[in-house]
Amino acid sequence: MSQTLVVSVLLPALCAVFAASGDVLEHHYKHLSRRTYQHLALQDPLTHLPNRHYVENIAEQLLKEASQNQKICAVVLVSLDQFKTVNELHGYATGDAVLKQMASLFREEFADPIVISRFYGDEFLIINPTVNTLDEATSLARQVRDMARRPIQTATYRLSIQCSIGVAVSPRDGENLAQLVQRANLAAKRAKSIGGNSIQPYVTGMEENNRWEAALAADLRYATLDNQLNLLFQKQNQTRTGELVGYEALVRWRHAEKGQIPPEDFIPIAERSGIILDIGAWVLREACRAAADWQDPVAVSVNASPSQFTRSDFSGLVSTVLMETGLEPHRLEIELTESTPIEDHSRVLQTIVALREMGVRVAMDDYGTGYSSLNTLQAFPFDKLKVDRVFTQSLEDSPQARAILRSAVLLGHSFGIPVIAEGVETEKQLNFLKEMGCQQVQGFLFGKHLLPGQIKSAREPEKRRAG
Ligand code: C2E
Ligand code: CA
Ligand code: CA
Repeated sequence: MSQTLVVSVLLPALCAVFAASGDVLEHHYKHLSRRTYQHLALQDPLTHLPNRHYVENIAEQLLKEASQNQKICAVVLVSLDQFKTVNELHGYATGDAVLKQMASLFREEFADPIVISRFYGDEFLIINPTVNTLDEATSLARQVRDMARRPIQTATYRLSIQCSIGVAVSPRDGENLAQLVQRANLAAKRAKSIGGNSIQPYVTGMEENNRWEAALAADLRYATLDNQLNLLFQKQNQTRTGELVGYEALVRWRHAEKGQIPPEDFIPIAERSGIILDIGAWVLREACRAAADWQDPVAVSVNASPSQFTRSDFSGLVSTVLMETGLEPHRLEIELTESTPIEDHSRVLQTIVALREMGVRVAMDDYGTGYSSLNTLQAFPFDKLKVDRVFTQSLEDSPQARAILRSAVLLGHSFGIPVIAEGVETEKQLNFLKEMGCQQVQGFLFGKHLLPGQIKSAREPEKRRAG
């Protein structure tokens, strides 16, 4: 559709001149490829770069050129990392300024025969039909990444932008543009999923991985309905006295055929596919239901990812679940992890505020390993700081880990909130934490995770004593 539209808008004048002969048309296309994107229909109005329609129009020509010259055609898809956050935090005008600056950097750096275009939203597509090896294609990508990272000065901000880049080359990865772009896109997604700021060439099998993930996601969708999920509870204790202060709920998935699948494998899939909303709701409900029944009215901590805060009415859900289960709000603590970047800051903030108004506490999980822990800590009013287990685990032999934990305790102190260290496995680690004044601890040192039935119930003390 768009192609016909574009061609009909663009070509009338040229067509009149170059009538029908194949040669002439070819010449004409070549001419078109290099110059005529100035035409409005083929140009992105913001950056004045050629747009996707333009690329679609000249793609065949570029690929042909490459093969005639026995060259490889490199298709480099550049996707800016956390561009949404830039818009959220600094406003759309800043977002626009970033795209324009990026475009002009690219324009300065690359000339004919390299084609640069603003392909889609925060994605740029760079095509070089004169490459000799895949290595050359990746070094082009590297050049792009380094350029993109240069600080961008807008009227009010100085920003450093990172990007995820996917690379596909013809003829290896595809014979036509659509296929090459699809594969470069798949590769860029992979680059993004491993934290961004990286370059990923397409490799065969990426579709299979995607299919594997899609299959697992389909099974996962079913898991909440088929009782394949269950919860384990892990103790949280006062460091000095050892007194029990609460339990963290940890979800487990027993797949019908594949057996136990660790949360580290399925939570990311659940997040990418949106199933986390169902799982999260299930976990919250089950954890609160269990806690409401404990004889000892200690706290229950429930993990939540930022996407639950931004893609659903999380505080509404919490309020409903508290009502349904009768759990008092002050006994519930939500652990917000930063394992995926927080894209919609204002929505997350709104949810945290709503939860705290209800009397529910919000802890920052995995402190020290997130995308920008200090930034997050500054942006959101947390009630607790949970330091990631990697630091606890290095306490004994890493002065750096000790310094980080000590500084976390100081931070907590100045914010007036307690700090909990997770992953405590040895007495020696515990002693370090005591000495530092870290208020709470959690880890295998205090025993294995418990099944719901192993925690003393208010209603059935007899059964518990027997077990
Ligand atoms: P997390 O929130 O940091 O949870 C702590 C993880 O550390 C748990 O792994 C726990 O079993 C493990 N752990 C606890 N004590 C020790 C210790 O002393 N040593 C060591 N080496 N490990 C310890 P698990 O249960 O496999 O969970 C992994 C991650 O999966 C969690 O990390 C959390 O990010 C995510 N997760 C688990 N349950 C949920 C859930 O209900 N919702 C969401 N969104 N994420 C969850
Ligand atoms: Ca946690
Ligand atoms: Ca954690």
